Amino acid sequence: MSAAFNGAKFCWMDGKVVETEQALVSAMEPIYLGIFEGIKAYKQEHLEGEGKLSVFSWDQHMERLWRSAAIDGLKIPYNRNVLLDGLRAVVMANDFKSNIYIQPRIWPRAEDHENVHVVIPVWKFNTILPSTNPEFSKKRRYMVSSWRRVSSDALPPQAKSWANYANSNLAAREAKRCGYDSALFLDNRGFVSEGTGACVMIVRDGRLITPPVTASILESVTRGLFLGFVPLDLGIPTEVRDLTRSELYAAEEVFLCGTGGEVTPISSVDDIVVGGEYPGPVTRRIADYYSEIIVGNLDKYRCRLTNL
Ligand code: PMP
Repeated sequence: MSAAFNGAKFCWMDGKVVETEQALVSAMEPIYLGIFEGIKAYKQEHLEGEGKLSVFSWDQHMERLWRSAAIDGLKIPYNRNVLLDGLRAVVMANDFKSNIYIQPRIWPRAEDHENVHVVIPVWKFNTILPSTNPEFSKKRRYMVSSWRRVSSDALPPQAKSWANYANSNLAAREAKRCGYDSALFLDNRGFVSEGTGACVMIVRDGRLITPPVTASILESVTRGLFLGFVPLDLGIPTEVRDLTRSELYAAEEVFLCGTGGEVTPISSVDDIVVGGEYPGPVTRRIADYYSEIIVGNLDKYRCRLTNL
C-alpha cells in the first residue's frame, strides 16, 4: 500500500505519473525559491455521465504561472499542453471523478537554478457553494493582522511564490492564537490588501469595491472574473480603489474570493460585526452566479472550461 497525499495515490512529476511516495526531491533543493498555482476542476452539470470534470480558467492560471516564473527567474521546461496532458494522466491514474484541486509546483534544483522540478499534485475538495450550503453561512471572525502584506519593493506579491506564504502563515497563526478564524492584511501603506490566500471585496452603498493590484495583492483569477461579470451581468456597480481599514468596519458586506475559498463571507472584522443580514444579499448573488459558471451552466462562460 502506498502513502496517499490528501487521498491521491499518484501525482505527475518531471514528465511522468509517479506514486506520491516516489515524488521525492533532495533535501539540498532550494525549495524556498519555488512557485505554484492553485486551480480547480469541477464536475460539469451540463455533461452527461460520471466523471465529467473540467478545469476552470486553465489558461488564466497558466499565464500567471509563467508570469510568476518570469518574476522569479525560473524557466518552465514544458509548454502548457504538456502540463495539461500530465494533469489528465494523473486524474485518470487516481480515478478522480468528483471536484479536484490542482496545485502545479515548480522549484529550482540545487545544482542549477535554471533547471526546475515540475510536480502536479491533485486532491479532492468539498465546495462551500452555492449559498444554500450551510457551510457557506458559517460565521467567520477575521482580524486585521499586525503583519503587513509583503510588498513589491521587497517580495513581489504578484508572483505566486511559496515565500509569500510564509507571510500568510504568520498572519494566519496570529489570528488563530488570538481566537479568530483568519486574518486580513494591510499593505505597507496601511491600506487594505488581501487575505492570507484570497482577495477581499466589500459592499458599500450597494457598490462592490476591491483594492487595486498596487495594494500588494496577488493578481487573482477569481477577482478578475468578478470584476467582469458583477457589473456587466449582475448590474452591480464595481470599483477598484484603495480601501481603508475603517471601511471594513463600515461595510455592508465583506467577503473573500479566490479559487480555493471561492466566495467566503466574513461576519466580523476585529470583532466589529459586518452589516446586517449575514451572508449579505450581494455576496449571495455573486456566489450563486459563480457557482453556476464553474459547473458549466452558463453558456457564456463555457470558454473558461477545459475538459479533462
Ligand atoms: N491572494 C492570495 C494570497 C492567494 O493565495 C490567492 C489564491 N490563489 C488569491 C489571492 C486568489 O487568487 P485566485 O483567484 O487566482 O485563486
